[in-house]
Order: sequence, then structure tokens, then C-alpha cells
Amino acid sequence: MGRKEPEDRRGQLLQAALASLAETGIENFTMAEVARRAAVSPALVVHYFGDRDKLIEATFRQLVERVTTLPMRALAGGDDPEARLRAFVLAHLNPSELSSEASRAWLSFWGLALYAPALARLQRVHQERMVSNLRHELRALVVPGAVERIAETIGALIDGFWLRAALASAWKPDVQIPVDWIFAAIERDLAAARLPEGAAAAADSFETINPATGEVLAVIRIDGQAEVDKAVGRAAEAQKLWARTPGAERGRILNRAAQLLVERNEGIARLEAQDTGKPIQETIAVDVLSGADAIEYFAGIARTISGEHFDLGPGAFGYTRREPLGVVAGIGAWNYPIQIACWKSAPALACGNAMLFKPAELTPLSAIELEKAYRDAGLPDGLFQVVQGKADTGRLLTRHPGIAKVSLTGEVGTGKKVMADAAATLKVVTLELGGKSALIVFEDANLDEAVSGALLANFYSAGEVCTNGTRVFVHRKVRDAFLAKLKARTEAMVVGDPLDPATQMGALISQAHMEKVLSYIALGQQQGATLLTGGQRVTEGALAKGAFVQPTVFTDCTDDMAIVREEIFGPVMSVLDFEDEAEVVARANATELGLAAGIFTNDLTRAHRVIAALEAGTCWINTYNITPIELPFGGNKQSGLGRENGKAAIEYFTQLKSVYVAMEPIDAPY
Ligand code: NDP
Repeated sequence: MGRKEPEDRRGQLLQAALASLAETGIENFTMAEVARRAAVSPALVVHYFGDRDKLIEATFRQLVERVTTLPMRALAGGDDPEARLRAFVLAHLNPSELSSEASRAWLSFWGLALYAPALARLQRVHQERMVSNLRHELRALVVPGAVERIAETIGALIDGFWLRAALASAWKPDVQIPVDWIFAAIERDLAAARLPEGAAAAADSFETINPATGEVLAVIRIDGQAEVDKAVGRAAEAQKLWARTPGAERGRILNRAAQLLVERNEGIARLEAQDTGKPIQETIAVDVLSGADAIEYFAGIARTISGEHFDLGPGAFGYTRREPLGVVAGIGAWNYPIQIACWKSAPALACGNAMLFKPAELTPLSAIELEKAYRDAGLPDGLFQVVQGKADTGRLLTRHPGIAKVSLTGEVGTGKKVMADAAATLKVVTLELGGKSALIVFEDANLDEAVSGALLANFYSAGEVCTNGTRVFVHRKVRDAFLAKLKARTEAMVVGDPLDPATQMGALISQAHMEKVLSYIALGQQQGATLLTGGQRVTEGALAKGAFVQPTVFTDCTDDMAIVREEIFGPVMSVLDFEDEAEVVARANATELGLAAGIFTNDLTRAHRVIAALEAGTCWINTYNITPIELPFGGNKQSGLGRENGKAAIEYFTQLKSVYVAMEPIDAPY
């Protein structure tokens, strides 16, 4: 006989706990009884769960998961929202659950939740999730004003039937009766509030499209003034309590959210690959996990946020309090949707703020998954809310008097508009904007490493990375050798279906963006640059439906060409020659942007001398585009204001209060 695996054993103990709860009720529920039922020693139950309260919580957590497994599966099937809605309700009224021990245990769960905060939270999360799923389906079926009411009604009916099944022991639940009843009610409501034909794509919603296939992934409702006002109100209410919650407790909730993201990595990474066109081999390794890493990092920081003490002599002292700002807004770009949402929300929440987050209209889906992870981790309602829409919705946030700060990731032009809008209410702004960064390869560099760096600095995420080193300055002495290696390795890259694990470069974000990238390639040729490789759209087989462009390298570039001066945000590298260190530093700095820079050299002193001279916020020596969460991240000059990540981020999500404490009588001259 094999040894029981820990998860297996845990599941067995929870099963015994559930049976015990259902049979003997909460009053007689003991760890010893659970041990007896599972035929193990009481010490083992203590080992797995600590104490009785924790065992109860774990049992109910598992029960919630159990009763929601089937409904969640129902939501995943098919693309007819009405059929999914019906399947969801049916799965909630699954006879084997309703008539089993589960409904009795469920009743004790509701009873206990009245008094135990941890269970109350679990119950609230469960109900919220049910209603939010109902809302989601209903949005595609009925007019906006009816969504909330119908979702709440269906939720209440489902809960009611569960309680009835548990209470009336003589009642043999004939599931057909509640099902017919609920469906009749749904029918009536749907008939009265159904969306007119074709209205799903009307002005108050937008479609998000898979750029690799052209398929519509989802229709998203646009939040307007009323929704934003409501969200700000909810956030402000929740934030008051959150600000008073100890940092350690805030950290624990954030840690759970990070864990949930890690557990859900595969599903979210797939969704992100579909929404952005990036290859799954990237999204599964970087996008979600780097977001989780940020949440975990700031979870740890939450309990360390503190002020300073000032000794002001025997008669007084002073101290500072580092306080949250209140309700803050995050506005994201489309290239790293979930990572950006995490980079902004993690420090915001760790510092005690509430955050409204607006993802880019082109990539609205993964932020919803982040919202779910926070909610399932027990983050109080209202503290992280996704607001959906286009620039107009973003503007509602930047101009809102109830919002204290805006953190934007986007283009330089958008940054200027956001700053101007924020000025009316004197909001603090953090701006993570575009770049046209330099990567310098000196003559002593390891060329294979430098080529790796240049490839990563230009073709990762199909070149849609803000920090990309798109101006690659190569010392004239090693230019030919560098180009030979670069050409061979660029041409060996696999462009293809983002969901194929072998694909190294997927689609660009949209057809419109692809057109922009192709027009820059044409302009490069017109202005006299030489195409070393690439330059074409990829249209083989199914790729013809998507926005695919070959990894492209230009040589013989000059500093005044458009491809060298402007951010293309696509897989287009410009290689430039240089001879002298001072010359290359001056040319690298000759731009209004200053996001990032990288150098390849084995000369230690030159490395640090050149880095010190480069006007860029984020720099690399002998690598490129690595952004560990511990290091502050951001741009100089027009590439941005403020910093994300690292301890530095705390400054941007808090404000200082200075307190003077008198220890002696006032020496009043009046
Ligand atoms: P945009 O500036 O077009 O959009 C960024 C976000 O701002 C979107 O959510 C957008 O909404 C919203 N927005 C647009 N106009 C306004 C406005 N007037 N007021 C408030 N919100 C507004 O950037 P992209 O999404 O095109 O992203 C690409 C850019 O982001 C590149 O320049 C890139 O360099 C930069 N970037 C910078 C990073 C950094 O950390 N420095 C990292 C990643 C990207 P909607 O999309 O719905 O219109």
C-alpha cells in the first residue's frame, strides 16, 4: 500500500469533517471526532489544520468549492449566454448536492457565518461570485438597468432553495419544481428587459478581438459617469476600513491573491495570449507570474511601511506617519495587461489605498481575472474594481474629484493629457510612458551575448515592450561579425500561432497597429536604411487572418531617420555604427525620451562610466529587459514621472503626515 499523499490526506480529513458537520452539527464538532471518522490520530488532524476554527474554515472553503465546481463548468461551455445562464442555474440546483449532507453542512455554514468573520468573508465571496457570474451572462441578454435586479433575484432564489432543502428534512427536493419556477421568472424578466437585436455591439460596449485570428473574444460594457461615480463611492467606503487594517493582515490577503494567480497561471496565460497575440511560451512564463511576484513582494512590504522619529531635544519630539492616499486609479496599456494591473494594484493595496483599474480597451480580460483572484483571496469588496472602457472612461478617472492619484502606463501623448486633466484636482500622477532606448555594443563585448540581448531587446512580445532597445549601436570593429550572427538567429525565430508552445513570436496587438508597423518599415526603406532581414507581413495559412509581421532588422541607419527617432512598438530593430565612447553616449542621449538603456562590454570601469552618463531611468549591463520587482522601474525625461516597483513605489502610493509632540508647557509670549 502506498503512502497517502498530503493533498489526498487533507481531502480525506475534510471529507470526514463535512460528514461530521452534517450528521452531528456544529455543537458536537470536534477534531477528535473527525480523527475517529477518518481513522487517523487526532494529532494528524492538528498537524494539517492547527485548531478547530481553522478546520471549520477549511471544511467550508472546500464545500464552497464543491458546490461551485459544476456551475463554473457550465459557464465555460458554449457561446450562447442564455444557454450558459440556464446551465449555471441548473448546476447550482444539482439534486445530488441538494439532497446530500452538503445542504445540511451548508445550513450550519450560513448560521456560523453570522458570527465568524472568516466565514462571513467566505460566504460573501461565494455570493458575490455567484451574482457577478450571473451579471456577466445577463449583460449580454438584457438592458443595463435590469442586470443587477435579475442577477440578485436569481441568486436569492438559488440560496433560498438550498436553505429549504436543508431545513425541511421531510422535503424530498424535487429539483424540477424550483428549476421550473426560476426559469419561468427568468423568462418573464428576460422578455421584459431583453436587449434589442444587435445591441450588444452598440455604443455602450466594445468588442475585444484575438489579433491572431480576428475572432471576437468578448463584448465588454463601457463604464460611464454613473458607473465610475458608483465605483468611487464603493471604493471610498471600503478604503476607510482598509486603511485601518494592520499591514500584516493586508499582506496576508495579498499573499493569498498571489498564490491564486500562480495556481491559475495556465488559464490566465492562455487568455492573455488570446487577448494580446503574444506567444503562450511568454505569457505562461512571465505575464501572470511576474504579476504574482509583485503582489507577493508588496504583501511582504505591507507590514514594514512606517514613518520616522525625530528627536527634538528634551521638550519635544516629532514623528511622521506614512498614510494611504485614498482612492487611486490605475490605467493600463495593452502590452502587459495583467502585469501592469498587478504592478499598480499591489503597492496601492499594500499601502492601504483602494484602486480602480482601467485596462486598455484592446486587452480588457485579464484584469477581470485579477479582480476575481483578489476577491477569492478575501480582499474586502470595493477595494479593487475594474472599470472598463476607452479613453473617455480613462478621462472620467483622471478628472474625478474623489480620486487622489492616477498611475498611467501608456504613450507619451496620453501621459501629457492625463497630467493636464489631473491638474484640475491636483492629483499626484505616476507616468510610465514610451521610449526609444539605446543598446550599445562595445568592441570588447561577448558578441553572442550581445546578439542575445539585442534579440530580447527587440523581438520579445513582438517588439511591443516599452523599454525595448530599438537603437542598437554597434562598434564599427565588430559590426560585420555582429550582423552575421544577428541575421542567422533572427531568421531562425519561429513566428506562428500564439497558442502553439513552439511559437516564439506571435501577433501584434491589432490590424491597425500592424499597419502602423508596416508603414514604418516602408518609411525606413524610403529613407535609405538597408533591410538586413524581415520586413514583411506573415500570411502563411491561418496566419493570414492575424496581425503577424516578421522580425525585422535595418542596417545603415542614421540618427535622423524616423525609424531611429520614433517609437514603433513592433519587431523592428535599427542598427547604427559608432567608433568612440563619447560619441555614442551623446548620440544615445540625443532624444527627448529616457526610459531605458543597455550596454554590452567586458570593461568594468567603462560599463559604470557609460551607464552613469546615459540619460535613462532603467539600465542594464550585459543583459536587457530584465525587470525584477525589487528594482525601481521608470523613465527619465519624457518617458515618465515617478517609479514603480521596489521600495520606491511606496512613496508614490502614500503621503506623509508630520506630527510635533510637545513634552513641556508652552512658552507663550502673550
Ligand atoms: P495609450 O497611451 O494609447 O493608452 C494607455 C491607456 O490610457 C489605455 O488604457 C487608454 O485607453 C488610456 N487612455 C488613452 N487616452 C486617455 C486619456 N486622455 N485619459 C485617460 N486615459 C486615456 O497606450 P497604449 O495602450 O497604446 O500602449 C502603448 C504605449 O504604452 C507605448 O508608448 C509604450 O511605450 C507605453 N508603455 C510604457 C510602459 C512603461 O512602463 N514605461 C510599459 C508598457 C507600455 P484605451 O486603450 O481604452 O484607449
